Amino acid sequence: MSSDLNERAAARYRSNFLQEVEDNVEGGGWVKMCMQCGVCSGSCPFGPHWAHPPQELFMMIRAGKREAVLSTDSMWMCTSCYNCVVRCPRKLPITEIMHGIARYAHKLGLAPKLQPTRRFSQQFWENCAKTGRVNELKLTLSLYFSEGLMPGLRKAWAMRNIGLGLLKAKRLNPFELFGGHKCKDQKGIEAMLAKAREIEERRKHAAH
Ligand code: SF4
Ligand code: SF4
Repeated sequence: MSSDLNERAAARYRSNFLQEVEDNVEGGGWVKMCMQCGVCSGSCPFGPHWAHPPQELFMMIRAGKREAVLSTDSMWMCTSCYNCVVRCPRKLPITEIMHGIARYAHKLGLAPKLQPTRRFSQQFWENCAKTGRVNELKLTLSLYFSEGLMPGLRKAWAMRNIGLGLLKAKRLNPFELFGGHKCKDQKGIEAMLAKAREIEERRKHAAH
């Protein structure tokens, strides 16, 4: 579902999607430097599995295909292997741009809701930002049960031997479910995140 922010951005940039990407996507200013050689797409381990490999996404941005770019799950598939970056003759920060487009699509409410990487990133962040430390047990359970009770139970059952192995090796502590370990200076983490949000807001307003 689209958001107010998305409608405002679409109205503001009208048919200039390249400009929108330049202003709002990390590394977006590099898209216009792409010469469409296709080396990145040919080097990507995803190869034929992409709906839109990087070179095609960059071409679509320049062609103003806003909705098709922001709603695809292609950029969410990027594994950050950097194969494309080391081979690009124009030295585009392709990985950064891919993640930047994904973040922007998420912010506008256009990213595919059930895309597994998007969902994992969201849950990881929510888990980590609460205490400053990742609670692996809670994160795993939130992933297992994100599609409902029965699929969660089936997944937990399928993974039971790995869970037991981790328990035996003392790599999994069931008491982490009740609170769990935290960063010593939790207030400091909260203040740091609040400051980061404030800086981001300030930058956003300065750009507009
Ligand atoms: S390798 Fe670089 S220049 Fe070539 S298509 Fe990919 S991004 Fe564009
Ligand atoms: S960094 Fe991403 S886009 Fe680049 S080759 Fe690796 S998976 Fe493909």
